[in-house]
Amino acid sequence: MYFARKLKLGFSEQLQHLALAAGELYSKTLVSFWRVARKKGLWLKPSSLMRWFPNSSGNELHAHSADAVVQSFFASLKSWYKRRKTDPNAKPPKRRRRYFKVIWKSSAIRVRGGKLVLSNGKTNPPVVIPWAWDTPVQVEIGWDGKQYELRACYELSRPEGEVTAKAGEVAGVDLGEVHLATAHDGRATFIANGRLLRSQRRYQNKLKGKLSRLMARKKRGSRRWKRLVRSKQRQLARLRRQITDVLHKQTTRLVSTLHRRGVQTVVIGDIRDIRRSAQYNKVANQKIHQMLSGQVRRLLTYKAEKLGMWVVLQEERYTSQKCPRCHMLHKPRGREYHCRACGFRFHRDGVGSVNLRRKYLGQFDVPVVGVMASPIGLRFRPHTRCSSVSRSHSAT
Ligand SMILES: [Zn+2]
Repeated sequence: MYFARKLKLGFSEQLQHLALAAGELYSKTLVSFWRVARKKGLWLKPSSLMRWFPNSSGNELHAHSADAVVQSFFASLKSWYKRRKTDPNAKPPKRRRRYFKVIWKSSAIRVRGGKLVLSNGKTNPPVVIPWAWDTPVQVEIGWDGKQYELRACYELSRPEGEVTAKAGEVAGVDLGEVHLATAHDGRATFIANGRLLRSQRRYQNKLKGKLSRLMARKKRGSRRWKRLVRSKQRQLARLRRQITDVLHKQTTRLVSTLHRRGVQTVVIGDIRDIRRSAQYNKVANQKIHQMLSGQVRRLLTYKAEKLGMWVVLQEERYTSQKCPRCHMLHKPRGREYHCRACGFRFHRDGVGSVNLRRKYLGQFDVPVVGVMASPIGLRFRPHTRCSSVSRSHSAT
């Protein structure tokens, strides 16, 4: 499992120079590949194209960075092979690039005296960047549209085996549409609020609709049409960034809260097939197909694993319906679960997380007695770098 650290670098002549060298090498690789394919009917392998041009880009880039450029070309070739099976319009990589991202493999990466040093070919001095973190296994520098961006890649090793992981507390996590995630660890329930996110999603849909209606009135390809396309892309990109920000902050808070409480195993409801099986009305369908639960699950997983927790997916049939106190099945209506048999009332997603945890522990059929403490809301606070648990709130 990998995770990445991103850093914005602005602009520099040196990076520009390297990106040009990588672009040149990429274009040469591409041209040679297709030329040999056309003239000789041969499809070259990556190994035969690596180090093909030792005297041009070979001296600018580190030898392994040059290999990485060739590998990138073959990676896009491979994804085209795959895509064309289902998509007849898929196009192979044929466009030359003036600039291309530069990749450094571990052999060219050093961290020394608070600096990240990325080696290049003989003719180029290394790239040096102030650095306060561990040595990454791979570094990539590319253009993000406005400036150079560094992506450092780290490998996460699984900290322990399943046996030791089962020691410690277990938390059930229910992913939802209204609330991003609700967790229960046996004593308390935490809700990562998704209200702001919902309004952002709604606005996203509205904006898409509005702008495509406007675009439909213009002539395709005209100046005004192009201006609208640009504006649409800009506005949607901004919304996407805001959504990612909320997702990151809320998942970090939930995971760190659970970690502080001694949770070792995080049980996440497996709702991966809802998308395939669900057919409701148009509005409900849009809601379900746009659920961010896949992304939330991935974020929770890597963040929890980073802290040494164990993440399991739990099949979740009946977990939202079964009353944790008396076992009766009810379809909850509204945001609150209310058992008509025994009068048990609790937050709807809270019931889901309680049941997921119990299902994983093999206690799904054992009724609980007693009163549940009301859930604690983790509200989104835009300017904080995710820390403590916020005030408790009533179930909504
Ligand atoms: Zn009941």
